[in-house]
Amino acid sequence: MTKLTFYGGVKEIGGNKILLEDRGTKIFLDFGMSFGKRGKFFEEFLTPRTAAGIKDFIAMGLLPDIPGVYRNDLLKHMGRKPEETDIQGVLLSHAHADHANYISFLNKDIPIYCGETAKRILDAVQESSQRNIENEVIDFKERPLFRKDYRKPPTERKFNLFKTGDRIKIDSLEIEPIHVDHSVPGAYGFVIHTSDGPIVYTGDLRMHGLRANETLDFIKKAAESKPIAMITEGTRINVRRTGESETKVYEDSKKNIMKSRGLNIVDFNFKDVDRFRTFYKIAQETGKKMVISFKHACYLDKYHEDKKLGVPDSSGKDILLMKPKRMTGTYSDEDYMDKYIKNRLNKNNIITAEEIRKKPNDYMVVLNFWYFNQLVDLEPKGGKYIHSLSEPFNEEMEISFDRMMNWINHFKLDFVQSHCSGHINGDDMKELISKVNPKMIFPIHTEHPGMFRDLSMKTKMVKEGKVYEI
Ligand SMILES: [Zn+2]
Repeated sequence: MTKLTFYGGVKEIGGNKILLEDRGTKIFLDFGMSFGKRGKFFEEFLTPRTAAGIKDFIAMGLLPDIPGVYRNDLLKHMGRKPEETDIQGVLLSHAHADHANYISFLNKDIPIYCGETAKRILDAVQESSQRNIENEVIDFKERPLFRKDYRKPPTERKFNLFKTGDRIKIDSLEIEPIHVDHSVPGAYGFVIHTSDGPIVYTGDLRMHGLRANETLDFIKKAAESKPIAMITEGTRINVRRTGESETKVYEDSKKNIMKSRGLNIVDFNFKDVDRFRTFYKIAQETGKKMVISFKHACYLDKYHEDKKLGVPDSSGKDILLMKPKRMTGTYSDEDYMDKYIKNRLNKNNIITAEEIRKKPNDYMVVLNFWYFNQLVDLEPKGGKYIHSLSEPFNEEMEISFDRMMNWINHFKLDFVQSHCSGHINGDDMKELISKVNPKMIFPIHTEHPGMFRDLSMKTKMVKEGKVYEI
């Protein structure tokens, strides 16, 4: 008997953690961070205590309390005995935090299966961020009970990388990963052949992106397998098909940038390679240099290793790196402590805010809200700000958004919203369901699972922690 248990992603967007059991075989489909559950109790200055290992995470419902899953060093900190794991792997659909980040807590003996490009993105995240208990995906620093034991090198996790066309064997399971189009490269859906029949998992996907043919490949394979069940995302099940597309983002943004006489600032998620290409193309076609941060450079350098993605590295044509101020308020090289900056200080395409200020219209600066304090040095006087991210969809995001608008108004920037989503809309989902035609549907990664009922009577209303026998 094949069993499914959903420990996250239930009536919420993201946080997917799905346990699949087939006879003796046990695997997880994704092991992500739930922003919703975390945000319910914690915020910037009230965070789970890491000194207690995973106690706070379990006590507050951020992690399910199941044996044989977690890191022994973290179990020890909450007074539990070490455990051996019986989980044989995590199938990671893609490298977004709500699917990947809580791998951080998993027992070191659980291998991670993911796409080659997904691994590159995880590497870039690791290189550009400070290590913390919620992002130790690639490797982790064991937390000993005694300070003297702290100097041990990090423990590496075991990664098994796949690509479309591979067949992965995990004990009684045979798994086919198939590429899908999403707002991050290296995204996959799966056909999982169990002893009771095939189960399809969509991960996150869309039909309206530039690589829709990849999602169509997945749908075809999924349909051919005649699945007994489908676990599907439903982020935008409540949204009708509109004219949104990456091409429209390109056209609208280009038109606005061509009209601008001041500094051009754009904000998009650097994990989205299609969006990078869109703005890189606009910069080149409008005769501007694209200015990125040293953190962005980590991503570009990793993407560049994958020739299929066709992007330049951080020293590429028309790319400049903006040097942040450090400690003494100057740009003196010895002040930089972060490795990802230090390793790139010898590049000859580094620029400062003061230099950009002299000829603002020559540049397109990629600047995220968290780094808006750099506007103080950039001193834009008019110009465009292109927000190429989703609009706020909850209260917390709205507060942040209002604060962002205050900065934009303060510097007299002209605000432009230009975005297309990484997720499939309701109309396209209807088509997907009718093509794949699964015997059962488990909607997750959605706040509106009930809407799947309108599309198919085979829909199960998923309850968190309940065991479903397939
Ligand atoms: Zn995603």
